[in-house]
Amino acid sequence: MFDGIKKFALDILFPISCLSCGAPDLWLCPACLKRIDLLSFQVCPYCEKAQTASGAICSRCKANFIAKNTPPFLDNMIVATSYNQANISRLVHAFKYSFVRDLGFPLSTVISQAIFDNHLPLPDFIIPVPLHPRRLRWRGFNQAEVLAQDLSENLSPGLPIPLLNQLVIRKKFTPPQMKIKNYSERKKNMQNSFCLADSCHPKKETLRNKKILLVDDISTTGSTLLECAKVLKSAGAGRIYAAVIARQEMK
Ligand SMILES: [Zn+2]
Ligand SMILES: [Zn+2]
Repeated sequence: MFDGIKKFALDILFPISCLSCGAPDLWLCPACLKRIDLLSFQVCPYCEKAQTASGAICSRCKANFIAKNTPPFLDNMIVATSYNQANISRLVHAFKYSFVRDLGFPLSTVISQAIFDNHLPLPDFIIPVPLHPRRLRWRGFNQAEVLAQDLSENLSPGLPIPLLNQLVIRKKFTPPQMKIKNYSERKKNMQNSFCLADSCHPKKETLRNKKILLVDDISTTGSTLLECAKVLKSAGAGRIYAAVIARQEMK
């Protein structure tokens, strides 16, 4: 009841219109959603330079892992669209900082389309990159979790893919990656930020050899996703691929 009144009042005070063209009733109208171009190529998640099919690891980075005798944590990385494309940064900003939760659905369809176009298999589980509890309290919702919920449905309509949203926790409160200018500082900022929740037993059995889709809104250096994937691979996960709406290029 209260939610209904609140929504009614908000709709009058802030009438909903497409952030892209101004058409009424939706934050992103179907026509503008259709106009969002997906990236025509993907790059290796480690060097972020070599173009690879489906954002797989490139042969050079793979050789480095073999030399170190450790398996790569993240097997594929899909960046759906370009941050510089008209309106994407605006939409993501509205979703993340103006708390327009309803943008989760159209933005997640951009991600699911990219996953289909890159011929990645359906995952067994979807895991949103967690926020630190302090940041979650401030924002009120985890934007990655909203995307993951919507993805769970639109990757597999009618048979939603299970979400594991309590499994990974963010133990380190870090300044936002956006605020750190230097690449190696950003990497350091994220080191050992995540761990598995103690209460999640038996986590090894849950994850063993499973295909995991890690979801976040924006990737800056990719180190957030790599750190998250590291924790999951060490706990026995099989293939891990990550997907984001866009990559924010370093200035
Ligand atoms: Zn529109
Ligand atoms: Zn590479």
